[in-house]
Amino acid sequence: MRFKAVTDLTNSFNPVPKNERKKDKKLIDDKKHDCEYCGKKNCWTNKHHIKSKGSGGNDTEDNLIELCGACHRKVHDGLINKQELLKIVKRRKRK
Ligand SMILES: [Zn+2]
Ligand SMILES: [Zn+2]
Repeated sequence: MRFKAVTDLTNSFNPVPKNERKKDKKLIDDKKHDCEYCGKKNCWTNKHHIKSKGSGGNDTEDNLIELCGACHRKVHDGLINKQELLKIVKRRKRK
């Protein structure tokens, strides 16, 4: 009954405990970035799509900008011009 033995081994194999996995995810989420618009250091940022996915924007670097919560809100409220963001992305590329 070799086949059965293999099955038993699989069943007794311990998967990664749930809380361990949670810890790993937290580690990734803890990474903080600098806001590319206001230059605020080590803050919680969001990747903003300069051209929204709805209007054909892609997940490319040219279309994504790292923004802190305050700036991100401003962009969506129309307080920050899209052209400003495009300028920042262009400047970044030249470096
Ligand atoms: Zn900002
Ligand atoms: Zn956004």
